[in-house]
Amino acid sequence: MGLFIGAGLGYGLGRRMSGGSAPSSGMSGSNIAQEGRVREVEHQIERLMLLNQSLWELLREKLNISDADLQAKIQEVDMRDGVADGKMTTTALKCPTCGRTSSSKHWKCLYCGQQFEKPIMG
Ligand SMILES: [Zn+2]
Repeated sequence: MGLFIGAGLGYGLGRRMSGGSAPSSGMSGSNIAQEGRVREVEHQIERLMLLNQSLWELLREKLNISDADLQAKIQEVDMRDGVADGKMTTTALKCPTCGRTSSSKHWKCLYCGQQFEKPIMG
């Protein structure tokens, strides 16, 4: 990961140092930056998949739990947002302080600033 970030930084510096501000280069520049960002996110996802798989295999081995146990837990957690869609979905949260509704995307009340309890791995 460190290597990847280093390469990204080097790339950014190289671009900046090449100077030359042709008016049309702005658009392609942002596309290139976006592609770099996508690669970075893909890299992080692949790393997380590796980490997840390793964690699961370690836990299954050490705690003597089964794939069926994991499947049941996945379903339970998936349903916490009220939608069985195989992922954790952004959900409406009612503020315990002012009673108004905010999105779990922000994890705080957009009206009074109350911080909501975040899932540790979320
Ligand atoms: Zn509030």
